[in-house]
Amino acid sequence: MGMNTVKRHCTEGTLQAIESLGCFKDGHFHLKSGRHSNKYGQLRFAELIRLTSPFLNYSLKKLGVQHGDTSIVLVGPKTMGREIATYMAGSQEIPYAWCEIDDKEGKAYWPDKPGDFADIVKDRKVILLDDMLTKGTTTRQVVKLVEDSGGGILAALFIARRNQDTTAETIGVPRLDFLVDLEFPDWEISECPLCAGEVPLDKIGHWKEFHEKFPDYPLKED
Ligand SMILES: [Zn+2]
Repeated sequence: MGMNTVKRHCTEGTLQAIESLGCFKDGHFHLKSGRHSNKYGQLRFAELIRLTSPFLNYSLKKLGVQHGDTSIVLVGPKTMGREIATYMAGSQEIPYAWCEIDDKEGKAYWPDKPGDFADIVKDRKVILLDDMLTKGTTTRQVVKLVEDSGGGILAALFIARRNQDTTAETIGVPRLDFLVDLEFPDWEISECPLCAGEVPLDKIGHWKEFHEKFPDYPLKED
């Protein structure tokens, strides 16, 4: 496989299937964290949920979630977290909520409509779901939103973690679980070897934020 992945709960076959979807790209990327990497995880929902829902169901069961348990809420941030949370909540017949993320400020907030997510979360146990955990900046904002709304965080579940320094403690959750651990390198822009070599930046992910700051830096052709 040639990838520095450490599998957690999934089988070798599942891991190969995830990789074969083209979820992990090589290039020069500007991440949400503002750091750069030569690897980018782009997890597509439809295939991904088919491969990973057994793991997610298993993790929910380990956390004591019973089918139809209305004392639990699954919460995910837009976009993939929302998709995963609503899908899993549907299959478990338990409540869900999702939130928006303000890209400029990084803050999490409930959408105007349907408008009752703060009430749904209040006094319930919350499990956060999302696809990719890097620094956990988004997750910390979602934790704050949930706690400000009177919900109690039980755990956070991710499909993949791509930074081993990010732990339950650093994101402020009692428990953290994920399907795959990815040892993808990332660097501050000032220390990025790809920037040093003027390797064109891929127009994937958060490249626009980089382009606004460094409009003369070459971009990869479409
Ligand atoms: Zn770079």
